[in-house]
Amino acid sequence: MAKWVYMFSEGDMTMRNLLGGKGANLAEMTSIGLPVPQGFTITTEACTQYYEDGRKINDEIMAQVMEGVKKMEEINGKKFGDLQNPLLVSVRSGARASMPGMMDTILNLGLNDEVVAAMIAGNPDPKFERFVYDSYRRFIQMFSDVVMEVGKKYFEQLIDQMKAEKNVKFDVELTAADLKKLAEQFKAEYKKQLGKDFPSDPVQQLKLAIEAVFRSWDNPRANVYRRDNDIPYSWGTAVNVMPMVFGNLNDESGTGVAFTRDPATGEKKLMGEFLINAQGEDVVAGVRTPMPIAQMEKEFPDAYADFIKVCDILENHYHDMQDMEFTVENKKLFMLQCRNGKRTAQAALKIACDLVDEGHKTEAEAVAMIDPRNLDTLLHPQFDAKALKAATPLGKGLGASPGAACGKVVFTAEDAEEWGARGEKVVLVRLETSPEDITGMKAAQGILTVRGGMTSHAAVVARGMGTCCVSGCGDINMDEENKKFTLAGKEFHEGDYISIDGSTGNIYEGEIPTVDASIAGEFGRIMAWADKYRRLKVRTNADTPRDAKKARELGAEGIGLCRTEHMFFEEDRIAAFREMICADTVEERVAALDKILPYQQGDFEQLYEALEGCPVVIRFLDPPLHEFVPTDEEDIKKLADAQGKSVESIKALIASLHEFNPMMGHRGCRLAVTYPEIAVMQTKAVIRAAINVQKAHPEWKIDPEIMIPLVGEVKELKYVKKFVVETADAEIAAAGIDMKYQVGTMIEIPRAALTADEIAKEADFFCFGTNDLTQMTYGFSRDDAGKFLSAYYDAKILENDPFAKLDQVGVGKLMKMAMELGKPVNPALTVGICGEHGGDPSSVEFCHKIGLDYVSCSPFRVPVARLAAAQAAIANAGK
Ligand code: ADP
Ligand code: MG
Ligand code: MG
Repeated sequence: MAKWVYMFSEGDMTMRNLLGGKGANLAEMTSIGLPVPQGFTITTEACTQYYEDGRKINDEIMAQVMEGVKKMEEINGKKFGDLQNPLLVSVRSGARASMPGMMDTILNLGLNDEVVAAMIAGNPDPKFERFVYDSYRRFIQMFSDVVMEVGKKYFEQLIDQMKAEKNVKFDVELTAADLKKLAEQFKAEYKKQLGKDFPSDPVQQLKLAIEAVFRSWDNPRANVYRRDNDIPYSWGTAVNVMPMVFGNLNDESGTGVAFTRDPATGEKKLMGEFLINAQGEDVVAGVRTPMPIAQMEKEFPDAYADFIKVCDILENHYHDMQDMEFTVENKKLFMLQCRNGKRTAQAALKIACDLVDEGHKTEAEAVAMIDPRNLDTLLHPQFDAKALKAATPLGKGLGASPGAACGKVVFTAEDAEEWGARGEKVVLVRLETSPEDITGMKAAQGILTVRGGMTSHAAVVARGMGTCCVSGCGDINMDEENKKFTLAGKEFHEGDYISIDGSTGNIYEGEIPTVDASIAGEFGRIMAWADKYRRLKVRTNADTPRDAKKARELGAEGIGLCRTEHMFFEEDRIAAFREMICADTVEERVAALDKILPYQQGDFEQLYEALEGCPVVIRFLDPPLHEFVPTDEEDIKKLADAQGKSVESIKALIASLHEFNPMMGHRGCRLAVTYPEIAVMQTKAVIRAAINVQKAHPEWKIDPEIMIPLVGEVKELKYVKKFVVETADAEIAAAGIDMKYQVGTMIEIPRAALTADEIAKEADFFCFGTNDLTQMTYGFSRDDAGKFLSAYYDAKILENDPFAKLDQVGVGKLMKMAMELGKPVNPALTVGICGEHGGDPSSVEFCHKIGLDYVSCSPFRVPVARLAAAQAAIANAGK
């Protein structure tokens, strides 16, 4: 028979998976002799079983719960539902990973009219009567809210009414009689809302409460939190049942929360708050203003001294900053919770370094304790904390590229550029962005789009540039034509101030000031440690020298993906590129390409300079050509004039480029197969740039890496490669220089992974383009998946956006297959990843495990990837 219930004395901190974080730590505190009210934990497996049984607690589990109750009664010398010596308990959720605020707690369970009456009869002190009714009304309210889902507000209204009637400000000023009356009103409210009486049987109360905790694992808030924090649905939550200790007993009692170090800065000093004559959530709920923890020393010197000892013991035991909840009952201290405290990214770095210096942690342990996802926030401007607190968001999109931005609304890329040029701060608001918006995007402080997911054009480009972006805010009602939109009933026009938060996705009206991020010394220290442990190299996806330099500053060891097409959109080049597209003959096309060549070569030279001899992978032209042709009349006319062609013929050509499914259309290596002269030109540009920079810097070693995109059949690669090799060899021979170069391919079509053994014969390297690979493996359009993903989350078909977090089961299997097929054929094959996943910690760990050589990600994710790669190496050492 499975064991579903553990007394606190039966567990310890290693049993977090089974007992949840709270349960494991309550058990651990018990085992090291700290004062913890003794109860039991119902396992996370029982939660899973509850769902398997169709959301029911089966008899076997309930029987073990009742055994636990019996043992708890014996230990505490009180009895559940007893009239002489009643035991009251709290029922608390506790998942493996802490999910603060996700699931609610019920306090004072076990009370009913008879127990209340008996308690009061047993203690004539009027203060005690007040305490009993205070506990009772709290219980009815919490039980109704958490278990029966009757809104809190009904009860709060009643409290407010009572306070108004009695002309008092705080609930502590209400008398026993007031609270008695409130309890009656609460029960009546319960009956009114639910049409039945408040359950009086303590066992029934307990069972309903446990069920509510299990049920809350699946509430919408919990599901969203899990998705944002990578917590699998399958984990389930444990339930802790423990005797109440009463901070609301009298003025010799109270409750508090504290951190052993400052969770905002990491500074080593006790931080916390304390409230006299209060229970549970009162401290955080703000019913009264709590006192700073230090003041507790004056009020309760003995309990305070004990608490300081406990803080020390816990830090020395867990070797990490602790977040603790405690209660003082009649001057005596009880510990109710401890955990490794949540902290800001800044504090995380400082604490990790301090713990190493204090001898608590090794360097590897310090590296392992930083959440890489938080690092992002250190690298971008942030909203001024005070100003942000005062602001309420108008709406929410996806936090697509972190940082904070504030500026005037503009609706076109041109306006963004123009306004930016005259020194205005702007936020570009668009239905969605397209490649021609790039320069405008660069000029903007932030980008807000109505459509598109985490890998939409706006999101990918913004992350690359390190510009704040909120994408996919479907609540915006957009009128691009008239340059206005509405959000939450508020109309915005060009020039109105707006503020957006690319981390949370929040959108605010007006101007919230931002502050520049500062990189403290600890950041560098942790990164240096991380670099010692990681095996994976970290490169960056960068198209411009500016991005490349930023990435190098952040520790990138090369470029894993340079997309050449972004270079074509700048004013001076797009004309030549369009000429190339419009060419009727090979000669015309070559002539147009010859005009582009010097630009490309110049760009590549700058990149090689910026990289100072580190590797650079340059990917050849990838997007379908229609993305480059003009859309408005004026530009079409300009193009026609330049080409000496009629407007009609240009329009006919543009129409001919239309594709029903451009992502699966005439793009990638298919362009080079149709027009090999494009690949020839790009090869010349790469090799000539490399030769020039190599000559200028003999101390560097420049080995160009050319990447052919979208290969699915080895013959495609072979065909294009022939042009590349002929051209490159001729250029190198003509320069009389000794230069090696590599030709590799993206693995981004499932067929490429399936036939990787053939492709590896022709390729010097593979690079997993997991954006396209995910799109084509799932058959989900990466630009439209946002429309149905939420339905998939609700139906539990998907727990995460596969474009943000690598689908290890499917896409990952293809990657593994490509590795296993490719490596034996070509042992020198180097393999990387350059999709968005290259900067996602769990995906980086997967890449480590299957033996990739490097990950490549946008510049601002480089530190994240370095840390994640180190953590993967540390976690998998010896495996
Ligand atoms: P959360 O995870 O939201 O903090 P908790 O289960 O920790 O929820 O409990 C909410 C509040 O109730 C906390 O302040 C906690 O200290 C208090 N509390 C929980 N159990 C007891 C108990 N047995 N006696 C007194 N207070 C309790
Ligand atoms: Mg808590
Ligand atoms: Mg691709």
